Amino acid sequence: MSLFSAVELAPRDPILGLNEQFNADPNPAKVNLGVGVYFDDAGKLPLLACVKAAEQQLTDAAKPRGYLPIDGIAAYDKAVQGLVFGSFADGQAALAAGRVATVQALGGTGGLKVGADFLKKLNPGAKVLISDPSWENHRALFTNAGFPVETYAYYDAANRGLNFAGMLADLQAAAAGTIVVLHACCHNPTGYDITPSQWDEVIAVLKARGLVPFLDMAYQGFGDGIAEDGAVIRQFLAAGVESFFVATSFSKSFSLYGERVGALSVVCASKDEAARVLSQLKITIRTNYSNPPTHGAQVVATVLDTPALRAQWEDELAGMRVRIKQMRQLLADKLVAAGVKQDFSFITRQRGMFSYSGLNKAQMERLRSEFGVYGVDSGRICVAALNTRNIDGVVAAIAKVV
Ligand code: PMP
Repeated sequence: MSLFSAVELAPRDPILGLNEQFNADPNPAKVNLGVGVYFDDAGKLPLLACVKAAEQQLTDAAKPRGYLPIDGIAAYDKAVQGLVFGSFADGQAALAAGRVATVQALGGTGGLKVGADFLKKLNPGAKVLISDPSWENHRALFTNAGFPVETYAYYDAANRGLNFAGMLADLQAAAAGTIVVLHACCHNPTGYDITPSQWDEVIAVLKARGLVPFLDMAYQGFGDGIAEDGAVIRQFLAAGVESFFVATSFSKSFSLYGERVGALSVVCASKDEAARVLSQLKITIRTNYSNPPTHGAQVVATVLDTPALRAQWEDELAGMRVRIKQMRQLLADKLVAAGVKQDFSFITRQRGMFSYSGLNKAQMERLRSEFGVYGVDSGRICVAALNTRNIDGVVAAIAKVV
């Protein structure tokens, strides 16, 4: 018997498994719509010009790489706060009052994990609610942090939309202290977001029931714009929600997936509370990976703090957002032109990188095996991987399987 003889083989990550299958497929017309990555119209992962310019600046003034503080680069944390809270009066007031504790994190995932570990110490008996469905890692991450994870209603498959009444009812039924993970914008995987007035209703329930909101903002700028997508934060503050969590990711908005650039911000009731919370977040970080890496956060801070680069970033991000919207429109239009009777107009009402296409598992399997079009069995396709060269093939394939 060796030490590891009883270790079970864990199931493959379904999306990575899909990638392996895609790579092994000899079909020259194959298209990978399974991944959660933005590609440009040439099908390439972009290197943003603002990132390249910031990296050049950093190389020209190259500095030694000492350890960062546990909570990361101060200028970066401040830039994150500016982006998330700084564009509206209630957010500026919360920042000025010192009520927001922000730490650099290893991507959005790292922000969620630091928050989850902190919450587990704070309230070990709490439950976590995630949307049905949600990004798969939400469940795994909070389960691994030691929480029971359940769902609140969200997607309405029959009506190709949201079950908002069900969502509200599930939140209303949750025990005080329950942690509620919410997608701030561009819901992954469905692409359906609730409206601002629906947010107001959700916020009222969260507040009345004493629930703990944990906003996952992985796609700020991919929906309607940086400020527009961040407006939900303003709504939380305007409603007087004293304490909530925001995980930020720059993986998509800066196309810096591999650099692991993200953050966690915790809004607190007072400056004193924020200082104590920050001290605990730092212990969580210290005992996991000690302190974060330098490069990605340095790049993002440089871009956000240099007016010309910031303007360039906003343009480039708008370019990604607009291209995704064009692909949504083109996909819906071309399906009609291909004679597909089923209504796919909902694709243009979804936001962000993903679309729940409404296609079932058998149809997704046929798309893969017969046409080399790879999406997730749930019907999720990455609209940000469509381009003017592959879209006709995708449309022709969908037209054959519906
Ligand atoms: N939350 C959601 C909803 C996501 O879709 C993702 C990325 N797929 C993340 C968090 C994690 O982002 P990161 O890669 O920055 O850890």
